[in-house]
Amino acid sequence: ERRKLHQLAGVSAVSADGKTIALAANISSLKELEVALPVGIHGVGLFRTEFLYMDRTDFPDEEEQFEVYRTVAEKLNGQPVVIRTLDIGGDKQLDYFELPEEDNPFLGYRAIRISLDRKDLFKTQLRAILRASHYGQVKMMYPLISSVEEVRAANTLLEEAKRELHAEGLPFNQHMPIGIMIEVPAAVQIADMLAEEVDFFSIGTNDLVQFALAVDRMNDQIAHLYEPLHPAVLRMLKATVEAAKSRGIKVGVCGELAGDSRALPIWLGLDVDELSMSSPTVLNVKNRLLGTSQTDSRELLSALMDCRTSAEIGTTLLEFKRKSD
Ligand code: PEP
Ligand code: MG
Repeated sequence: ERRKLHQLAGVSAVSADGKTIALAANISSLKELEVALPVGIHGVGLFRTEFLYMDRTDFPDEEEQFEVYRTVAEKLNGQPVVIRTLDIGGDKQLDYFELPEEDNPFLGYRAIRISLDRKDLFKTQLRAILRASHYGQVKMMYPLISSVEEVRAANTLLEEAKRELHAEGLPFNQHMPIGIMIEVPAAVQIADMLAEEVDFFSIGTNDLVQFALAVDRMNDQIAHLYEPLHPAVLRMLKATVEAAKSRGIKVGVCGELAGDSRALPIWLGLDVDELSMSSPTVLNVKNRLLGTSQTDSRELLSALMDCRTSAEIGTTLLEFKRKSD
């Protein structure tokens, strides 16, 4: 079984009826990139940069960040990397950056909210990412976006960083694609409007599920209520993908559900462009993709959309798998 999967590293990621889905890796360090590369990934769909900020005594400066981002871009050898701007807060803390005690840290001071509050930190990161964009196919995305204002505010800083670099004579890609994470229900509701502000979406199912269902993803006592295959989540996924397609932008998925092979026919039915996942799951998902048809998945999806319970969605997916095995 393992040997068979291993042999899929060099095989193209296409469905049984010829639909390509980019299967990318989630990484949080150069070390994880080295693990991902031999799996035959289509680039990095999520580079969680907060890990660069962890286990140290102060914020990494522009030069240090630039070196890491550039190295990732170069090692990918022409394949894309999506660098996500700092996503601390919630479950991720820094020893040297005192965050306030909060009753609801996941709903609190975190991610893009910190970046827009601490423009000094944000600008340093934007400059480093822009500079790296000269050395490979670098894209950038903002986490936890909940409004058009946030996207515009972030892009204003980005333009400022570009002007600075230009004045300093430092090279960067003027057209570096900019995307956002869709992981807050408000963003799903205004996805059509957000799509007009950016080049791509990446659906973060980990946070989206927690916010859609009001279930803290870290709370063991209610872990049984954390149900990614809830009908409400399915509707949100569908609405997001449709909004992206109606505005002609690409849409990928980078939460845990992207690497769950049970969900593969959902992505194929919705026609998402990319799935980004932890590298040990890539070949398993590819294996499922190779044996699944998009035409059948579309039919399955319409049946799933009528399911009223997560259990029904689960059994419908299972029956579909049994039929296609
Ligand atoms: C997500 O929320 O789905 C996601 C990919 O981001 P993180 O798990 O880092 O919050
Ligand atoms: Mg998230």
